Amino acid sequence: MAQIIHPVRGLPLVHRPRRLRETPAIRRMVRETRLDPSAFIFPMFVVPGENVRTEIPPMPGNFQVSLDILIDEAAEVVEAGVPAVMLFGIPETKDEEATGAWAEDGIIQRATRALKRAHPELVVIADTCLCEYMSHGHCGVVAEDGRVENDASVEILARTAVSQARAGADMVAPSDMMDGRIGAIRETLDEEGFSRVPIMSYAAKYATCFYGPFRVAADSTPAFGDRRSYQMDPANVREALREVALDIEEGADIIMVKPALPYLDVICRVREAFDAPVAAYQVSGEFAMIKAAAQNGWIDGELAMMEALTSIKRAGADLILTYFAKDAARLLKAG
Ligand SMILES: [Zn+2]
Repeated sequence: MAQIIHPVRGLPLVHRPRRLRETPAIRRMVRETRLDPSAFIFPMFVVPGENVRTEIPPMPGNFQVSLDILIDEAAEVVEAGVPAVMLFGIPETKDEEATGAWAEDGIIQRATRALKRAHPELVVIADTCLCEYMSHGHCGVVAEDGRVENDASVEILARTAVSQARAGADMVAPSDMMDGRIGAIRETLDEEGFSRVPIMSYAAKYATCFYGPFRVAADSTPAFGDRRSYQMDPANVREALREVALDIEEGADIIMVKPALPYLDVICRVREAFDAPVAAYQVSGEFAMIKAAAQNGWIDGELAMMEALTSIKRAGADLILTYFAKDAARLLKAG
């Protein structure tokens, strides 16, 4: 070694990538991925009643809130610089037709009207699904033999999307994974005079164990069976591209991959193949893992939060649905 290391110039290297990592200022200049609060969407859970603010145990810092509290919580979202919320509703009663999903006075419809009145600048995205409103907890209509019926479900989903748009939702987000629902929702919205309302499609939504904490939050655990006959097999990526292609063809404006961190390759492939804005949902289990490890002192929670969000962005997501939205936005704001 001694003879090749020159006393002044050291190793005869042309390339020394470390030059650009020397100081924080230079590192900042050459940073390829930047997070901005404008990319965040904060999911919120609305329940009936008044003055309800129940923390969701596996999701510390996230609450089921009644309408009155929702307004205050949303004020914090706006204050943090987060432009949008995704609304999930937990209705008073559930049935086999998901009446609460499309009722004019349904929980989401009331929440949307209240939010738009209190915070007109906040983008309100309505989760369009049936599972929270079905007594059996599946995302569609269940036939006598226990199968989830596609086409009958799509009809109710389209009706739900229209009622959400009528209540003032800025965007609808079908999360059911039925075939043909984007086309049906687009057509129904247009017929009812809502051609200006965009659709954010949960296009590649996987049947993952990482939804665990959400089911506590949204009270939507299926009473029997699982969701593998409509949500995607975690082993598949070509199928994700096909699902996304179909949804774009049917009129989706924004496409989503869910979950995010265990599926960065899917986000990346979708980003490369399509021009539509790509959203990624950092789901409850991803959030809970970071929180739990941080509470145990096993990981730096803040650094893990920012690194995970940066990775999702780097993989190609334009938008990130995340329970960290407020915290991350505040941290970014503080510089
Ligand atoms: Zn669902």
